Amino acid sequence: MWAYVNGAFVPDRDAVVSVHDRGFRYGDGVFDTLRVYDGRPFLLDEHVGRLVASSKTLGIGGLPPENALSALIREVISRNGFSNALIRTTVSRGVSDGWEPDPAARPSLVVVGRAFSGYPDHLYRDGASIVVTTIRMPASDLDPVLKSLNRLPQVQAKREAMTRGADEAVLCTDTGLVAEGCVSNVFCVDAGRIITPPASVGLLPGITRGVVIDLARREGLACDEAPFGPEDLQGADEVFLTSTGMEVLPVTRVDGRQIGGGRPGPIASALRRRYHIRIRESGSERSLPSP
Ligand code: PMP
Repeated sequence: MWAYVNGAFVPDRDAVVSVHDRGFRYGDGVFDTLRVYDGRPFLLDEHVGRLVASSKTLGIGGLPPENALSALIREVISRNGFSNALIRTTVSRGVSDGWEPDPAARPSLVVVGRAFSGYPDHLYRDGASIVVTTIRMPASDLDPVLKSLNRLPQVQAKREAMTRGADEAVLCTDTGLVAEGCVSNVFCVDAGRIITPPASVGLLPGITRGVVIDLARREGLACDEAPFGPEDLQGADEVFLTSTGMEVLPVTRVDGRQIGGGRPGPIASALRRRYHIRIRESGSERSLPSP
């Protein structure tokens, strides 16, 4: 397995960064995870764009231009012969001796991948279980739109989900509104209307979330960004999660209680099918000869 680390392709087991790296020391960096289907990166421009935008927000300069980053990701895919995989790109402010950011430091850039064909089938067949955690979104400290390396609330929430035997935890804002999952966005369906919290409540508006909103509207379904509380999850006809890794994952249990009759709902299932069509279409578009 090959990884890209700061200018060189190295065997994955030798892929290391300095112990003085600010990503390791302070979480001073950003990352992105994208999916590879049949050897092709899905939504590559969107993922690279988000990574670069997050880096800019933190004032991390000196990265290769977007097309060069895309080329690096493609090279990690081809060198490893990945067919279905997750590619993680990590950027940090680089190495510095002390606490103060060194304006002259070169950023660290790492691209690694692993084979991945999706979450287990039984989750899609039976639906996932989620718990609403008391751990709050840290929206006031750091804009969660930024996909930074700081993931401690999500890690703690995930640990809670694991302890409670759930697949994912949902974090709320400090005013008690549903924000998002540890690594996913949350949707619910109420009387045929699909809703997902707006970015303004403080969440990472995922790339998959955006695609799914678009797919729903193209299907003629009512799909709005609107705030809601955890009690609305319990009372919903359907709940589902979206993320690069999960795609569209139906939820059938919230805090141990069945929702929607305990079976994946028709809207989540239809959107998952549409999402797969979008993946296939993106593949065929890319394999067309360039004009
Ligand atoms: N929210 C958080 C906190 C996440 O980490 C992720 C995964 N990147 C998402 C939402 C979903 O984003 P995407 O659809 O871009 O994978």
